[in-house]
Amino acid sequence: MSNHPIHLKPESWLVAAGRTIASGEPLNVPPIPASNFIIGQERSYARSDATPTWEALEEIVGGLEGGRALAFASGMAAVAAVFDQLPVGAHVVLPDDCYQGVVGLAMAGATRGRWSVQRLPLTDTAAWQQACAVADLIWLESPSNPLLTVADLPAICAAPRKAGAIIAVDNTFATPLNQQPLEFGATVAIQSATKFIGGHSDLLAGVLTTREEQLWQKLRQSRTLNGATPGTLEAFLAIRGARTLALRLERAQRNALELAQRLQSHPLVANVRYPGLPSHPTYQVARRVLKGFGTIISFDLKGDAVFADAVCRCVRLIRHATSLGAVETTMERRAAVAGQEHLPPSLLRLSVGIENVDDLWYDLDTAIRKAAPL
Ligand code: PLP
Repeated sequence: MSNHPIHLKPESWLVAAGRTIASGEPLNVPPIPASNFIIGQERSYARSDATPTWEALEEIVGGLEGGRALAFASGMAAVAAVFDQLPVGAHVVLPDDCYQGVVGLAMAGATRGRWSVQRLPLTDTAAWQQACAVADLIWLESPSNPLLTVADLPAICAAPRKAGAIIAVDNTFATPLNQQPLEFGATVAIQSATKFIGGHSDLLAGVLTTREEQLWQKLRQSRTLNGATPGTLEAFLAIRGARTLALRLERAQRNALELAQRLQSHPLVANVRYPGLPSHPTYQVARRVLKGFGTIISFDLKGDAVFADAVCRCVRLIRHATSLGAVETTMERRAAVAGQEHLPPSLLRLSVGIENVDDLWYDLDTAIRKAAPL
């Protein structure tokens, strides 16, 4: 592996990291489809000993997050490895707004009596600081999915915490370019690499990063025992995607700010949530904590779920699809998703891609006007 000096700026790191430096070897890390290795060196079986392809992905993401990384089969496999560290009877704190898969996993464990779950508003920094003193797992997601609330991570991560407690931050929406939770004192940073790191809607992968060597070893053991290892092709594609992450993010977040501003003055739009709009409740925190405001916008229409569903059917360039963080712009009515019924019925979540912003606006505005009830 390359082991480039860490002083490279993130954009250069994304391009340079995870490559071999041996002459005569391929410039790019190839997908190495191996489960089994000839015994005698450090690898004998992929599930326990990893492959060079996963390790290249780990080097890239770990360098950006500022710790040692582990690649997983999906974002949820990475999440599950963190929950796997909890002793029976542990206390878990989750945000009021949080990816529904994580909520589902936490509630399933609570139902089986493995741990207790408390929910807190992401904006109540003092409550989170108090929770740090008693919780075994503080789970934060910032910006949150789908309300895009930005937590005051530096203040929460600096609070005194229970011995052995884990502060885990789902950093998927921010990406490691816009936010580095480990710098603030978090124990683990989580990426669903399915989203921005892959960036092309063609893979599932997850990455955890930590600075605590013992915890890294335990997370790796969990990955090995649960068989939550990434696929070779997926790791290869995630590396391919990561090379252009900085460029994609820069363009998509410029598009997102422009679209958020235009949506704000749209006559058929009731409310726009984007961390970079001064009207967003956590705008001041976002300015202080994030290096960029991201590419996701949530907005409510002046109307009901029927109107919002019709808008999703009317878009042409924008795709009616779940998930986010890819080159193409996608849109979804979130209250239609199982476990998200509490959200405003006409809330549309837009993951802004790298297309021309005027084409995106034309498509969105046309769809809203076409779908509007007479
Ligand atoms: N975290 C967030 C914020 C997500 O949006 C998602 C998926 O949508 C996940 C985690 C889970 O990732 P995956 O689908 O790769 O398992």
